[in-house]
Amino acid sequence: MRSGALLLSLILSGTSFLFLVAPRSVTGAESGAPAAAARPILVTVDDLPVASPKLHTDAPDRERVTRRLLEILARHRIPAVGFTIWGQVKGPADAALLDRWRAAGLELGNHSFGHLDLPRTPVQAYVEDVEQGRAGLAAYLEPHGGKVRYFRFPYLREGETAEQWEAVRQALAASSQRVMPVTIDTQDWSFEEPYVTAVRHGDDRTARDVAATCLEAIKAEVRHHEERGDDLFGRPTPQILLLHANAVGTAVWDDLFTWLERVGHRFAGPDEVLKDPVFAEEPRFFARYGCSLWDRIAHEREAAQTRDDIARLIATQVEAWNRGDLAAFTSAYADDASFLSPTGMVHGRQAVLDRYTIRYPDKAAMGTLRLDLDEIRPVWGMEITAGGDAVPGRIHGASVAGRWTLSYPDKEQAAGRTLLVLSRAGNRWTIVQDASM
Ligand SMILES: [Zn+2]
Repeated sequence: MRSGALLLSLILSGTSFLFLVAPRSVTGAESGAPAAAARPILVTVDDLPVASPKLHTDAPDRERVTRRLLEILARHRIPAVGFTIWGQVKGPADAALLDRWRAAGLELGNHSFGHLDLPRTPVQAYVEDVEQGRAGLAAYLEPHGGKVRYFRFPYLREGETAEQWEAVRQALAASSQRVMPVTIDTQDWSFEEPYVTAVRHGDDRTARDVAATCLEAIKAEVRHHEERGDDLFGRPTPQILLLHANAVGTAVWDDLFTWLERVGHRFAGPDEVLKDPVFAEEPRFFARYGCSLWDRIAHEREAAQTRDDIARLIATQVEAWNRGDLAAFTSAYADDASFLSPTGMVHGRQAVLDRYTIRYPDKAAMGTLRLDLDEIRPVWGMEITAGGDAVPGRIHGASVAGRWTLSYPDKEQAAGRTLLVLSRAGNRWTIVQDASM
């Protein structure tokens, strides 16, 4: 659901991608900070030996792309990590490409065997595919003293359900593979086909335009994601950039890395970068599509905030009930709230208040309320940005399941269940539906 084509057409039609993301404040780093203050950035390269394999079927072409990418990495002294799709290593010529990566002193990680889409694959089959990728790469690396330390999820899709998420995490832990997150998600892969097509038609001008657009798009992603990470942690955060081993990279990387150096980055290896505490937590983020680690962390924090806000709202309601203030109690309901009970359904906050007033005419009738919350589920979905990134949308609703108890000094307590649906307008939560029985 990432539409690089959309991004490309936006830019080629004259709309600058730079205007589509929030402008980043110019920091000291923008004007060239001293090396000591430079931001560490890990460059990761997916889909080795060569990405978009259908566009690169002949061996000399694959070798040319590989040689050129490695030359650029060496020129900038970048300790990149490459991620192999083992099912794409089809023979000695492909193994020779990996030999080049290894000879350049670069680490190789596992990107599965078949590049499967976890949310659409039976979890056991997915785990077996990940293991097949690991085993193939391990057998290749071990004679040279290397080992497989990192795993990169294909499409950055880590699971749509808790079951998928946990099963794969468990398998990775059992085989000592650490998940390599991405903080700067990019769409470089989507420029590959237009670039290769232009080059093969001898259309150098279009090829140059596509490469220039790709570069600007990546720069915009760098600015956007760095600002997001820094906002989350209140300090300059180290970054992990996602690139692919493709031909458009041969026309883009040198300028990209020069720009990164100029705006205050320092290329760092995986051990240094992953040591930073920002990478200690792995958000339990369940979604159909993949996204940047920062988006996952931001979403997790928003969900926690949602649960806190709603728990606080309900606690305030309970306090109001217990001091006999039904008007304050029902102020948590939306103007057009619906209230369902075994005796029927009423509409509107005033009707809810009237119903309560008839049933509980005084403090003695109201007793003491206790509400135990069993779960609060935020409601949200993935959205697609103008740049073609799938990102978690804002949490705009929540449902709450709980148990209520009314206790009295002189009679038996009453108890039941409740299910609330809440909606958010701005930062204010209101109950839009209440089913209590
Ligand atoms: Zn991939």
